[in-house]
Amino acid sequence: MTIGRVNTPSLNLRDQPDGQILAILIGGTTVEMLTPALPGNWLFVSAEVSGRTFFGWVARQFVEGPGAGPIDPGSSGAGGSGPGLGGASSSGDLAAQLGAQIASGRIIFDNNSLRDQLLGGSSGGIRVTAKLQSLVLKLSTMTPIIRISSLIRPAAGSHHAVGRAVDIGNEEIAGALLPLIATPQKVAELEIDELIFDARIIDPANDKNKFNFDQGVRHRFNDATINEHGNHIHFAVKADSLS
Ligand SMILES: [Zn+2]
Repeated sequence: MTIGRVNTPSLNLRDQPDGQILAILIGGTTVEMLTPALPGNWLFVSAEVSGRTFFGWVARQFVEGPGAGPIDPGSSGAGGSGPGLGGASSSGDLAAQLGAQIASGRIIFDNNSLRDQLLGGSSGGIRVTAKLQSLVLKLSTMTPIIRISSLIRPAAGSHHAVGRAVDIGNEEIAGALLPLIATPQKVAELEIDELIFDARIIDPANDKNKFNFDQGVRHRFNDATINEHGNHIHFAVKADSLS
């Protein structure tokens, strides 16, 4: 973890370089620099404001700290050790690791509210679970880029309504990704409940349910469900034991 300190009376925290202001950091505020080794004039940081954790971009010149001045190519800030799964990571650690993956372009979103949801923000009083954050983090290390097209949404009977489901919108990665995941061992390891994708998108000769799981076991979904899962890959995770 690389810590810096705001060295100006007030500093804007923005959703992207030169983007919209998310929060104002007063002088002396401590920030965690999630991308100290990235070149350029902007740093991706997390900071506490009024008891809430914000993620965003600040101008590098207004932060004092190890990575804030001249860039040290040896810094391990954005990379580091591989993300862990399971109960060892606190939600803050998960958000920081996800923030680093976002900053390096390995996780992208159809809109900014999805990014806030993934990092732990509430949508209609619902937050994504730590298990879902862990799964997304793991997926982002198994394929060059994932594009999230849906997280929390009110849909009766859907795991999306309780923060346990994610839709991956760049389904073109399915052919490389799903064979790595759709095995009983891997599904158990990643604590996946549902995996739904129409495998005919990869190859018309495929069994449409080739990769699909429900409640952690292989499952054949009906055609109505299959036909809704040709333009994204749906994952849901098991319930968090503590929530
Ligand atoms: Zn879905």
